[in-house]
Amino acid sequence: MKTIPHYYDYSSAGPFKAAILEINDLAAETSAVTLDASIFYPEGGGQPADRGTINGVPLLNVTEKDGEILHIISRENTAQLAPGAAELILDIERRRDHTVHHTGQHLLSGTILRMTGAYTLSMHMGEETCTIDVAIKDLPAETLVAVEDAVQTAIEEDHPVKIHLCPPENILDFSLRKQIPQVEEVIRVVEIQGCDFSPCCGTHLRSTGQIGVLRVLGAEKYKGMTRVYFIAGRRVLRDSRLLRQNAEIVSRALKAPAAETGAAVCALLEKTSKREQKLKVFQEEDAMRKAHALVATFAGVDAASGESGELREPRIITVSFMDADMEETLRVGKAAQSLAAAVLVLASEPEVKFAAFSSVKDFDLRSALKDALDANHGRGGGGSSFFQGMFEKLEDLRAFMAAVR
Ligand SMILES: [Zn+2]
Repeated sequence: MKTIPHYYDYSSAGPFKAAILEINDLAAETSAVTLDASIFYPEGGGQPADRGTINGVPLLNVTEKDGEILHIISRENTAQLAPGAAELILDIERRRDHTVHHTGQHLLSGTILRMTGAYTLSMHMGEETCTIDVAIKDLPAETLVAVEDAVQTAIEEDHPVKIHLCPPENILDFSLRKQIPQVEEVIRVVEIQGCDFSPCCGTHLRSTGQIGVLRVLGAEKYKGMTRVYFIAGRRVLRDSRLLRQNAEIVSRALKAPAAETGAAVCALLEKTSKREQKLKVFQEEDAMRKAHALVATFAGVDAASGESGELREPRIITVSFMDADMEETLRVGKAAQSLAAAVLVLASEPEVKFAAFSSVKDFDLRSALKDALDANHGRGGGGSSFFQGMFEKLEDLRAFMAAVR
């Protein structure tokens, strides 16, 4: 049995009386409720489905199959419903958001067609932003601004939106922006007076003034077309609030007026980049100094034991740094490796990690460290000449370093 659709004529917050006809189990722990009449728009024509409740049970989705509207609910809620009278409540904010964006999309597509000659081939309504794909290679920023201004003028002029139910044989009376649907008995043509005619099954506002405002967020090249991002109505308000809040935080931090934060950030980044370059030089010099000291200490031990000042091979140098992070530990390791042919195992205690380096021929770090790593619950990876590892606990890292020593 076909459900009588009321989603075009009903968009109120109050309850709507209907009757549950059937409840059938579907896959994936869901069930479908069929009603004699429904206020819920099933997904289609680029417009997402409505949400709401049937006798308090929330809808997960609404779909249409052969004229029957299926109201999808979680199967665990089926016990709360039974055939008979039911109260339907529409999520009115979600519906209004969709209706605003759908009507806004018609106006935007019609305006782009009028100003550039390019047709809209598809649209998508996302949770955050909506998009249209326009059959044009490029839409420059100044064109988008002109389009946005023209759309806003049409919103302020409050053009009426009219719905024409047209038999297919009369469809050529309309100068349609979109292709004519082939299968329908009656074609629903949405007219924005003076702006656009488009066949569409979605929900629409009564006039363009109800859109309030529409912002074109940007455009990008997409499969030989141009994808245009836009938002309308309350989403513009939320977006503006969020951007303003962020601009104020940046403005306070940079001590620059909110409208000039872009330039202030660029200046700051340039300054930081120069400082980072200088810092890198200092860090390399510092690492080389530490590497010299480290190698000298171990060479000194050898000298004291009667050996020459050169390191015996393969000699394992182990050092735990109390205050160096891994970045610094790696710098020191690389510098020390350039000074002596040795095996280095350097630990960063703040990060509970270690790095091992070997420039000794026929010495495999992986097999040399494996037992100590396993015995102390460490994880690691690498090759024969470079190996890194980490531990959950500092005492495990310390025990590992003692075992290697
Ligand atoms: Zn539409």
